[in-house]
Amino acid sequence: MPQAAGAEEETNVRVAARVRPLLARDTAQNYCSCITAQPGTNQLVVGTRRGFTFDLVFDTDASQSSVYVGCVSQLLEGSMQGYNATVLAYGQTGSGKTHTMGTGQPVPEGSDEEGIVPKVIRNSFHHIEKHKGSVDFKVSCCYLEIYNEDIRDLLQPGGHKGHIAIREDATGGIKVTGIHAETCSSAEEMFRCLSDGSVQRTTGATLMNEQSSRSHSIFTLILEQRRRLTNGGGEGSEEDYVTAKFHLVDLAGSERAKRTGAVGSRFKESVAINSGLLALGNVISALGDPAKRGSHVPYRESKLTRLLQDSLGGNSRTVMIACVSCADIDFEETLNTLKYAHRARNIKNKPVVNHDPRTAQLAAMQDEIDALREQLQRA
Ligand code: ADP
Ligand code: MG
Repeated sequence: MPQAAGAEEETNVRVAARVRPLLARDTAQNYCSCITAQPGTNQLVVGTRRGFTFDLVFDTDASQSSVYVGCVSQLLEGSMQGYNATVLAYGQTGSGKTHTMGTGQPVPEGSDEEGIVPKVIRNSFHHIEKHKGSVDFKVSCCYLEIYNEDIRDLLQPGGHKGHIAIREDATGGIKVTGIHAETCSSAEEMFRCLSDGSVQRTTGATLMNEQSSRSHSIFTLILEQRRRLTNGGGEGSEEDYVTAKFHLVDLAGSERAKRTGAVGSRFKESVAINSGLLALGNVISALGDPAKRGSHVPYRESKLTRLLQDSLGGNSRTVMIACVSCADIDFEETLNTLKYAHRARNIKNKPVVNHDPRTAQLAAMQDEIDALREQLQRA
């Protein structure tokens, strides 16, 4: 674990549910809504079955801004203090994950259609602009896609797959090596990374048979800050170095993908679950199920769970947004999504401020010296 500034806090993964309205294609087929949000509560009732309670519920008329304010703005404030953060969008294809994350087609600046990722980018640079007199910031981003257990770097030409590896750093945090991190000096530069990477993702999709609904994408902002500790300047003045990673994840569609059967059963359709989501479900069970507490957590079952190890049960503040369609045709998938996401509410994370280990060690030594000095004075 990175060095903590103070006591380690424990905080649950927050889970929000967002219901997308009926689309024209739903009404054209006479589909009806099968979800009711209970006013004044955070409860969703699907059909006539029991309700699900979440930390936050966004009904069909919720704006993109209300989702951002409810789920994300606090995370960004934390990142500016040095806490890692993660937002995961989960749900079946067509339920509004990409709409919510804002990683699809760019929308005009300031439009309420703007999703989470562009808002995080814009607000990060606003913050930097406001504090640039007293703090030196470095902001960079990475953009990855995981498809069939392959990691593609969306910021490199052709989605370069090279020698990408997932490792633990000296502090036990997860880091990915062999990928490009683009340093950006303005929101516009980072928007370019987002749109170039998103284009790479969709280009792959048309070539590789609906890849985008079967792949996970992870856009990561890396925020580094050097703050001069006011010590009169000159000799003896110190710097505090704080860093945070903000992962923004658009997960693969959670529906079971129909696949044409293999040789010998050519016309039989089999049903396959995305391996990353299967592993993610196992990690959620191991961490969230009170009966399994303390048992082995199978992070290494997939690239996705290994990459998100800090986000689930580790050093991050994490929000999962379960996206569901209100259409009755999607009833079963909606129920599956809500059940899956609901279990994540039990996961406990341990976020800490990520100081430079050397700075933190020095601070700890200084504390010790102070304590010893006090003891001496009392003796
Ligand atoms: P996913 O990424 O989960 O496959 P999308 O984000 O692409 O789903 O959404 C599918 C369609 O539904 C898109 O046309 C999108 O614009 C629309 N949509 C999704 N969520 C909403 C919402 N909350 N309000 C209005 N339209 C939405
Ligand atoms: Mg999508």
